[in-house]
Parts: sequence; C-alpha cells; structure tokens
Amino acid sequence: MTLFTDLRLAEPLTRALAADGYETPTPIQLQAIPPLLEGRDLLGIAQTGTGKTAAFALPILHRLAAERRRPAPRTCRVLVLAPTRELALQIAESFGRYGRFLPLRVTCVFGGVGERPQIRALQPGVDILVATPGRLLDLIGQGAVALSNLETFVLDEADRMLDMGFIHDVRRIVRLLPAARQTALLSATMPADIASLARDLLHTPVKVAVTPPATTVERVTQQVMFVDTAKKRELLIHLLGDQNIRRALVFTRTKSNANKVCEALERAGISASAIHGNKSQGARQTALSLFKGGKLRVLVATDIAARGIDIDDVTHVFNFDLPNEPESYVHRIGRTARAGRHGVAWSLVTPDQGELLTDTEIYINKEIPKMDYNDFVPSERPPGWRDAGERRDQGLQLANAPAPGEEAPPAAAPVNRIAAAVNPEIPAAADPSKFPGGLVPTKLPPRRMFGRIPTGRGR
Ligand code: AMP
Repeated sequence: MTLFTDLRLAEPLTRALAADGYETPTPIQLQAIPPLLEGRDLLGIAQTGTGKTAAFALPILHRLAAERRRPAPRTCRVLVLAPTRELALQIAESFGRYGRFLPLRVTCVFGGVGERPQIRALQPGVDILVATPGRLLDLIGQGAVALSNLETFVLDEADRMLDMGFIHDVRRIVRLLPAARQTALLSATMPADIASLARDLLHTPVKVAVTPPATTVERVTQQVMFVDTAKKRELLIHLLGDQNIRRALVFTRTKSNANKVCEALERAGISASAIHGNKSQGARQTALSLFKGGKLRVLVATDIAARGIDIDDVTHVFNFDLPNEPESYVHRIGRTARAGRHGVAWSLVTPDQGELLTDTEIYINKEIPKMDYNDFVPSERPPGWRDAGERRDQGLQLANAPAPGEEAPPAAAPVNRIAAAVNPEIPAAADPSKFPGGLVPTKLPPRRMFGRIPTGRGR
C-alpha cells in the first residue's frame, strides 16, 4: 500500500498531512500527484469527495516550495478557478491547511463582496490565487492583478462552469495566460464543450478518471417514498421527528421551494436554514458554519448552492424534489457517507415522477427500494398549502377577466392552428402589404441578435 510518505512530497507537507491524520492517498491523489510533481498537465475526471483538491494542491505546494521565489506585485504564481464562492473558499482553505508549514501567500477572490480588501490583498503579489471567473475578470480589468507570470493554472469543476454560464469568462481568462505553464482541468463529467476546452488548454495531459459514485453509492442506504406533492412538506417534518437524524441536507429543485421548505420546518420547530443563489454571501456562510458546527439540524439547499461544499458527518440526505438529472442524484447522495461513513438518502417521489425515478435507477444501476411510512397520518389540507386555482383568485387578475359575480363570456371556438397557418384567412379590410400605422420596412434591422441576449459583460 502506498503511503503519503512514499510520494516524496516536501517535509512541511507530509508533516501537515500527518498532523491531519491523512496516511494513505485516495485513488485520484495516487494517480495525479506523481505526474503533477513532474510538471505534466492533468485531465482529472473526478468529483467532490474523492480528495481531488489535495490531488492538485499538494504537488502545487511542493513545486512552489522547491522553487521559492517572491511573486512580483499584483501577480500570482498559481491560479485556481472555481465556479462558486463556497468552493473557492474551500479550495483556498485546503491550500492554507496543507501549506501551513510553508511561508506562502494564498488569496481568495469572489463576487458578492467588496473589491477593496481583495485589491489590497493582491497588491504585494500572491503565491496562490483562488478565484471565481467574473470577479477575477473585474479585478484584472482594474489592473489589480495580472496573469503574465503565472506558472500553474487549475480549472476546477469545469462542467459546472459550463452549467452556470461561465465558460466564456473562463476562455477570456485563458487567453491572458502565458503559453508556458502547467495546467490541470478537473471535471465531474466530460460534455463535448469541456472536452474541446481540455484539448485547447492541455498539453499531452495525463488522464485520470476516478468513479466514486459506485463506491459512495454503495455505502448509502437509499429509499424512495411515494407521496402526493401536497403532502411532501408534512411528510418531511414527520420524518425529521426521528432524532437519530442529527444532520440533514434537504435538496430542492428551486430557490423558492428551498425557502418554503425551510419556513415550514421552522414553523414546526425544526432548526433549519436555506442556502441558494439569492442569499447573500454572508447569509450563506453563516448558515453553513452553523450547520457544520451542529447548531442547525437541517440545511435546505439547491444543487448549485450545495455543489462542492464539503460538510462531513451529514447523516441524512433528503431529495425533497427528485433532481432532473440522474448525475445530480449521485452528487446529492454523495454528501452523506463521506470519509468512509455510512449514510442514508431518502427521496420523496410524486406520482408523476415514475419515469424520472426509472432514469435515476438506470443511471446508478440499482433499484431503489420503496419505504413505507404507515405511521404518517397526513392532515386533510397541509398547513400553508394552496391549490393552483386558489392562487390565481388571490393574485393578479387578467385585465379582461370577468369581475367577481360577472358571468364569463362564452369560450371562443377552438382554432385548428395547423389549418390556420397553412391557409391563413386574411380579413378583407386589412391590406397585408401595410404594417400597423402604414410603415413598411424596406430592409432588415441593422443589428440582429439571432436569439442572443446581451449580458452587458465582455462587450
Ligand atoms: P475533496 O474531494 O477535495 O472535496 O475532499 C473531500 C474530503 O476528503 C475533504 O474533507 C478532505 O479533507 C478529505 N481528504 C482528502 N484526501 C484525504 C486523504 N488522503 N485521507 C483522508 N481524507 C482526505
């Protein structure tokens, strides 16, 4: 068995690892550390929970320590790009922890907070900069940091960069990097766009693929519960009545559902907080640290907000909403059963989700057993539940809708849209050559967007 001490890492690193109780490298560490130490490029197919951060952080720290040199002001020697603030912070913390016996400067920059402290931190030059793409481009634009002296570039969670629409920002950053550099690209999946980015970025890379889903999934007891949409919140509260559920991560598909679930739990006296993209950075950090510190029993999260967050000791993962993509199911349930522990993942499945459940089961190559919850007696109408029709009555009214008490006009006869399109009936009175107001355009508009939406950034 290979130990960390066999990998010939610098002594301050093996000392930090030993102090943290890390003895044996994980598969990705075992395969990625030696070629990265040699200066090779890396294509790593791995997700959170595999030990991928240490797989690139340790050799990078080793090389920085071996070739000690002061970074020039407003430059960095290593750049790590991550898609979310949480992941960026976590990576920076890992560099700080593994490198705590080395005199190296690590800085993390991300959006949603003031730029001033970040500009100040970059001023003397840093060894390792961990950044989210948008904020990094802003800082580069202001001259707060330049990438011309970069030695190593890491793109982490590349597929999530694509999902979150950051891929153009990433490509703009890549254009600013010196050609002579070491590069590592890590991604949980390899969609075509990422494969093409990898071809552009990497020079004869070593490819390492680790598949934790199978091993992680095996340690998770998975069960599904069939339930009506209207009863889901009540069932979740009922299940959380079991005090063996010490720390639960509840996944919802949307931000608004995360809020609603969280409110319902709080009303039921269960300590909970929600994290999603609409929450401020401060609120997300507070919720996370309360949850990690055991002061919150339940964290309700959307996939994107929870992606990459490393929380140990989650006893239960609830799929309050089954995810649309089976890959997300594996990511979600992998949040429990970390570090060799055992975990439980329960999914609430509504009657219309049979096909989605089947797709998920095909993906994990396993039938997820059904769990009965006979002790659950739902109320007739769950508290706070409103039917779709009710919402319309209370909400906005259509301008031409009949006033209350007024009779609705007779419904228009159904139109055969296909026949109407093939054989349009042009009213005799209207002149088809005339546009409203008599203005007939003679040429195409000067600039057509072809369906693109201007974002304002990058132009
Ligand atoms: P990551 O996949 O980088 O998010 O790491 C997942 C978790 O595993 C983190 O909490 C690390 O601190 C931990 N970890 C990484 N490598 C090892 C190792 N070789 N032995 C024990 N724990 C590790």
